[in-house]
Amino acid sequence: MLEPTVGRLSQTAQLAVDELYTSGLAQFARQHKRQKADDQLIRFGQMAVPLTSMAAAIIRLNTDITANARTDLTAPINAERLLGEHGLDAHTAGGFQSPEVGDQFLSRTDVWRAYGGDRNAGIIRFPGDDVVNCFSDDDSGSYADDEPSVFEPFGYRGEGLHGDQKFIRGNRRLEEALQGGSVIRFWHRPLGGAFTFLYWCAVVGRRWDRGIDADGRSRKEIVWILHKVSDPLNVEVPEHVMEVGRAEIANMNAGPGPEVKDSPSYLELRHRAIDRDPNQSRHDYLVRRPIRSRAARRAVLLRAQNKCEAPWCEGMPVDRLESGEAILEVDHVDGLAGGGDDSPSNMVALCPNCHASKTRGKYAKSWQRKLVEIARRNDSAMMQSGK
Ligand SMILES: [Zn+2]
Repeated sequence: MLEPTVGRLSQTAQLAVDELYTSGLAQFARQHKRQKADDQLIRFGQMAVPLTSMAAAIIRLNTDITANARTDLTAPINAERLLGEHGLDAHTAGGFQSPEVGDQFLSRTDVWRAYGGDRNAGIIRFPGDDVVNCFSDDDSGSYADDEPSVFEPFGYRGEGLHGDQKFIRGNRRLEEALQGGSVIRFWHRPLGGAFTFLYWCAVVGRRWDRGIDADGRSRKEIVWILHKVSDPLNVEVPEHVMEVGRAEIANMNAGPGPEVKDSPSYLELRHRAIDRDPNQSRHDYLVRRPIRSRAARRAVLLRAQNKCEAPWCEGMPVDRLESGEAILEVDHVDGLAGGGDDSPSNMVALCPNCHASKTRGKYAKSWQRKLVEIARRNDSAMMQSGK
């Protein structure tokens, strides 16, 4: 458990703090109704709690407090005084301590412990802070986002698990950042790694894409186009990137978005992954590349049918992803650096064990050669079946 940084809490306040850490910020705030949206915050370590919520918890815990004090709780000034009596210090929202680029947390729960806010949503703001945070998690199966890039604009899937994505909640926040030219924090978790505040990003554009929702249905997804910026106080985005962004926005605003239909097939996904319009400009290609690689990854997972594609696999992990899908890692058998393209014929789905053997095992070389063959064979089998 995190220790509060304020010294000498009353026993009642300590109990309230314990409850806060046990039940979670959201539950705690529900339990102890905050009075105003612009409530002052009380800080523990890097976590913040609305002043009146904490005061309400203390009042409830402390049997010595009279019914009178309960009534007075609606007046924030009294809540503040009450907190002072318990050794708690209230700060205004301005006291928020911003995370630094490179800060790491093992899980979203740990991020939440440090800064509060929603612990599941992909696009959130921390209490007392205006900046929008985007979380990208490679561990979320076929719904994972694409590799972020330092050099090129990259796509980030909008928020919303079911049905067409809309400009509400997180997506509305990103739209505000786009319109207002505000920077966002981009957080990323690589497979098996930690959530890292990777870098500041400008939101330079958005476009529609076809996607699959959590119920396996085809739907319209918003793809936000992000671009890394080095200095959040002095935002510099190359003009050609801004141009691509503006063109994508105009395009999106002009049309109703893609036609969606249930469950795209392997062939459709494969087509989306490797088809490249020869008239497409280089910048257009850069922006669309992440979207193509995502389609490739989905195609491979569809082909694998929740099973490791290594024929000598000794067994899939018993555990599953939160989404219910098998724990599989999609791997380029030929390596992107070696000219291997984002084509399903060059990719396999492997369980974590087989993936590790293929990358760093004693027989890695011969594994790789065999997997090249398997990727090609499984791909053409799918092509022939016409599914
Ligand atoms: Zn395996």
